[in-house]
Amino acid sequence: MVYNIIEFLDENKDFQFNKKYLFFNLFKVNTMDLNKNKSNENSIRIPVITYHRIVSDWEKRKSQYRYNLIALPKSKFKIQMKYLKKKGYKTLNCTELYLWYQGKIKLPKKSVLITFDDGTIGQEKYAMPILNKLDMKGTSFIIGNRTYNNDKGYINYKRIPELKKLYPNFDFQSHTFDLHIHLKEDMEDIYNITFNDAVKQNHYFNFTYLAYPFGKFYSEMKMAYKDVGIKMAFTYGENGYANRTQNIYSIRRIKIYSNEDFSIWFKK
Ligand SMILES: [Zn+2]
Repeated sequence: MVYNIIEFLDENKDFQFNKKYLFFNLFKVNTMDLNKNKSNENSIRIPVITYHRIVSDWEKRKSQYRYNLIALPKSKFKIQMKYLKKKGYKTLNCTELYLWYQGKIKLPKKSVLITFDDGTIGQEKYAMPILNKLDMKGTSFIIGNRTYNNDKGYINYKRIPELKKLYPNFDFQSHTFDLHIHLKEDMEDIYNITFNDAVKQNHYFNFTYLAYPFGKFYSEMKMAYKDVGIKMAFTYGENGYANRTQNIYSIRRIKIYSNEDFSIWFKK
């Protein structure tokens, strides 16, 4: 929940950093035993890591991103990607993870799915070229209305076909069309709202996978996405590995924060 607040505040540019938010990190990092080596496929845990903004090093030092924990400078992102490469991690796309969930393929023990939320411009400017150079895969979950309205700071949807050609290992999936808002608990008709939003989003591209905004979801949303053809959905808010015992419409992810040690989530 606190992480969700951080994402929310990221969108409010007058957000003043307050050290007490760091305090919550201590509670939320759920380090699991990485040394378990069970042969059972269900015991395999795949890190699905999540980034938000990738910014230039200058921006990180000088701008509003300085104290923004979900804004990572590109140099740090590059170091992290090189680390994964050096450790022998295979990067996945969503389809590979999906097929593994279905029991149709096996994955190397060192597998990782690298995801980005919101489709912010730094993903195009910095993350995609870095991943491409290292021959690594990535997936961006884009917010339809911000992409299609050509909002400043977001990847423009018209660029996506070209980006797919430039970076064939990079994929684009859904972060909803216009539901990047906090739905209230008592909101009526969540099923219809979600279903209609997904239809709008699919008007532009045929999305197969989805990340819930702020990681928040209701059972009605799971039903709506299933009915509209989304095959797999990711949460956000409670760090943990993905494994096949989880519901395929609420797979866990791991958030990467600019002030944390990223390597704790990976096998040495
Ligand atoms: Zn988001």
